[in-house]
Amino acid sequence: MTARPIAENFGHWWVYAAPEYSELHAMPTTAVDPDNPDTVEAFRSEGITAAAVCETTDTWWWPGIISRLYRDRCTACCDRLGIPPGKGAPVNDDTSHTRKDTTA
Ligand SMILES: [Zn+2]
Repeated sequence: MTARPIAENFGHWWVYAAPEYSELHAMPTTAVDPDNPDTVEAFRSEGITAAAVCETTDTWWWPGIISRLYRDRCTACCDRLGIPPGKGAPVNDDTSHTRKDTTA
């Protein structure tokens, strides 16, 4: 259920940007250290300006539960992580748990 950078989320935060909140982007843990409670709390309350995996820089926000379940993932972020596009944070999307074979 989480937007946190756990293994099932391919080690990335899944975040979105105001005001559209249109897509979930993958954000590296270099932007917010998941092991630092102060940094995580600052992100949760104030957002964080950083570059996503797709190189879009914006102020990112912690998505709500509905978005973590149903919001479309950014296709460019998914391509770079080698996972299929889809809906919700990868941990919530049964179709995304295997990486695409990019060796072909
Ligand atoms: Zn993206």
